[in-house]
Order: sequence, then structure tokens, then C-alpha cells
Amino acid sequence: MQDETETTAKTPQHEIFASPDRDLTLYLTVSEELGSVALKNEAAEHALDIWRANTNEILEFPSVEEGLDMDGIRAARERMGVTERPLRFLSPEDYQSVLTLLEDSEDHSSGRYLYNQDVLLVKRDPSLEALNGPGYTESLAVHEMAHSGMSISLTANVDIKRGIVDGIEQQYVTGGIEQHPTRAGFIVKGPETQEGKERKIHGSALEEGYAELERGIFNISIGRPNGFGVAGQEDGYDPYAKYSVLSKTEKGEVQSSDTPGASVAVILEVLIEKDPEILDALRRRNLGGRDSVDGHREFIQRVNHLVPGLYKKLRQLNHHDKYFSTRARELYDDTLVDLDLDLDPKYKNRPIR
Ligand SMILES: [Zn+2]
Repeated sequence: MQDETETTAKTPQHEIFASPDRDLTLYLTVSEELGSVALKNEAAEHALDIWRANTNEILEFPSVEEGLDMDGIRAARERMGVTERPLRFLSPEDYQSVLTLLEDSEDHSSGRYLYNQDVLLVKRDPSLEALNGPGYTESLAVHEMAHSGMSISLTANVDIKRGIVDGIEQQYVTGGIEQHPTRAGFIVKGPETQEGKERKIHGSALEEGYAELERGIFNISIGRPNGFGVAGQEDGYDPYAKYSVLSKTEKGEVQSSDTPGASVAVILEVLIEKDPEILDALRRRNLGGRDSVDGHREFIQRVNHLVPGLYKKLRQLNHHDKYFSTRARELYDDTLVDLDLDLDPKYKNRPIR
């Protein structure tokens, strides 16, 4: 039993600790009064223990991999140059259980990169697999793996208190991991404004777009250049087709749709068509990709060199915005004009979607 009689509450300071067992950095907010390095290390160890326990709870769910081409998934990971992270293919019931564990049961996703735990989850939805084939589930894993290339920086609030533990008055560590990384791939949180006010998040649509771009590249690699849904008009080029998925409406009718990330992925695609080095800058291979300042800068420079000011517009797109789809599609059309690609017959007669 712990008796919280005294609290050391002074100005917090940030200390950085690297996790010894995973490619992970923790930013610890520790009380200044902790003073000694030994106590700070103890606090860091405590935060890591909590993190390990939370992560292991999720990893105990069995991964259902029957019928999936795990070699193909591994090859895609190597192509992207991302580090291997724990990946679990979960039954819909187990997927839901994990979300409940994370207190996120409102989530309707089919896959998640849990950046706090550095774990990848993919739901094996039997009805979607029946319509699209197992390749669809594999492509979801590729999308989530693309996110996992992001650098992790979690904040842990740890404090040392004095109290009665096991009948003896002593100091003990308390606190745990905070839920919000400050930077995650393209996603960056804006500066603190008013107290209690949500900080602005930039780059989320760009991050989703990159992950979808990798899913599209994977779909081509498994012989699905038109995705899993219904391709556009026979004489027209449908840039969104390779991201399409078949699903059933509530009435049981089969419909073809593409993901929100596809709207930005197609913009990245045409930029890469003009400058293939952009894909390398996005991946980790050369400069550390989106994780490093150099990789990020190279991406920005190459994009803005092709279309001045485009990076800022991409970064400002927000896929939770009501007008996101329209804005992204307009930006795609403008980009085609700026790149002189609208004159290319391949891009003519595009179906209106
Ligand atoms: Zn995503």
C-alpha cells in the first residue's frame, strides 16, 4: 500500500531517456526536486516499466496470419526502410478488446499504429476479406507500417513522493506515460496557446497520404494496380483507383470507395513522377526520411522546387475538415496544371468522382 502524504511539486523539467529494449525515446517530465541522477533514473525506469506492462498486455492477443502472404509484407517493409515493429493481425473481437483497453472504443478503423506502444494492429475483417481477398488485409498492414517509420517521443510525468510503503517511510516513484507524442512523422503539434485549449495539429493529412501512397505501391506489387474496387471508366485514367476497396452498405449492396488518404497520395504520386527522389526523401533509406530534420527538409525543398508553396498547402490540409475531400481534389488538379501534367493524355478524360 502506498500512502501519499507528501508531494514534491516544483517546476517540471524535461529529461530524455532512450528505452534500452526498443527504438524509442521518452521525454520525462520530472520534478526538479528529484535532484539526484539516481532518482531520475529510477523515475525513468518506473515509466518504462509502465510502458512495458501496457505494451505486453496488447501483445498477448494472438496474431491470426493464416492465408496472408507474410513474406510479401516483409518485403514491403524492407522497401520502405522502416524498422520492424510488433505487428498483430487480430480477429474483430480482439481488435475491439484492444481498443477498449486503450479506452478508444469509438474508433471505427481497420488498422492502427499505436504510437504510444510502438505496436501495429490490423483487423482481419472476414466480410471485407471475402469481398477483396486477403491482399486487402495485407495492404492495411503496409499502410500502418508506413506510419511506424515515425520518430516516437512520448512524455512521461513522473514524480517522487515520500510515504509509507510496506510499513516503512520511504521515497517512491509515481506517475506514468502521457498519451500524446509531440511529433509523429509529418504530424506536428502546434504551440501551446490558451490553457485547456486543444493544440493545433498540422500535417495529419500528409501523414495519411504518405501511408496510402505506400499501400498503393504495395497494391501494384501484388498485381492490383486498380486496387480492390471498381476501376474508373475504361477510356479514362482514374488516379484514385489503386486505393479503392469494396465494402457492403447497410442494405447489403456492394460499393467501391477510396480512403481519405488517397486524396493526398495521388498528389504525392504525381510529384514523385516528376522527381523520383521525393520517394527516397519520404522513406528512411537515404537521409532518415520524415524522421530526420535533413530528410524532412529535403522533402520540403524538392516539393517546393516543383511547385512553389505547395508544401505549406499540403501541410495545412486536415482530413478531419468537412471540406477536406474537395480541397484535396482541387489541390490535385492545380498540381497537375503546375506540373504540366494536365497536358498528358494519361490524365485526360478522368472520371468525375
Ligand atoms: Zn493511417
